Amino acid sequence: MRFLKLSLLFLLISGFAYAQKWEVGKTYTDDEKWTEFTVGNIPLIISVPHGGIITLPHEAARDCKGAVTVTDSKTIELAKEIEKVFLEKYHARPFIILSNLSRKHLDQNRDIEEATCGNKALEKTWHQFHDNIDTAIALATKKFGKAIYIDLHGHGHTKQRLELGYNLTATDLRKPDVEKNQLAEKSSVANLLASQKNLDLVQLLTGETAFGTLITSAGFDAVPAKQDIAPLEEDKYFSGGYNTRRYTSIKYPNVFGWQIESNFKGVRDAAGRPAFAKAFVEVMAQYFKIHLNTSF
Ligand SMILES: [Zn+2]
Repeated sequence: MRFLKLSLLFLLISGFAYAQKWEVGKTYTDDEKWTEFTVGNIPLIISVPHGGIITLPHEAARDCKGAVTVTDSKTIELAKEIEKVFLEKYHARPFIILSNLSRKHLDQNRDIEEATCGNKALEKTWHQFHDNIDTAIALATKKFGKAIYIDLHGHGHTKQRLELGYNLTATDLRKPDVEKNQLAEKSSVANLLASQKNLDLVQLLTGETAFGTLITSAGFDAVPAKQDIAPLEEDKYFSGGYNTRRYTSIKYPNVFGWQIESNFKGVRDAAGRPAFAKAFVEVMAQYFKIHLNTSF
């Protein structure tokens, strides 16, 4: 009898855990607040893997092969500004996942081995960030069918423009349209293209209704866009990383998106953030209407 009671109790507890309610507008964190997840109510998921500044005084910086430890400064502040504008303008909330821990210790845009550089103590934190993105995707796609995923970064390249990463290299982007369209499956918008046969990749990269074209028209230069088709051979350019590849892959058939590598001046700095956030939110509203037939 006692065993039965205990089993029943266990079933109840595990049942509750499974059916955890994710409350819109609530922020969920670990005890240390290294990872923050705010639940949204529109099919837009924004992750910020490199903006964290919490350092661990007793832990060495990551130094495994290929480890990059530079911070994408003010990208957390930029995401929070975007959140604020969405609320003010549309009473809508994107899902937001932030890493507050410094990239010196953990890189939340790498697979677990390179992310932790072998530091087992941080594996749990790596999983939490990615589990939160998984949860956001599950909630958003369950409710809306499709979702857009944006991985938000900051670059230090000379050319002051947004670098939009669609998992296509600069060489890919310099190809003629006909050849470029054959790269649809490799791109981070593959899942949208698979479901909308009237669209092609070139339209989503450099067409009238491409994100890059719309945001450039709103005053923030971007590549690729109709106004700037591809980086030049001498330009530095980020094409998309682990998160963009993972969360727009065939394993997430209802998700598409891109990486945004933002410049500092006029976008991430104190003067730029409110203006960029306003433009981003307006362009996203247009984009959702055109490509997902969704209004906020
Ligand atoms: Zn970054």
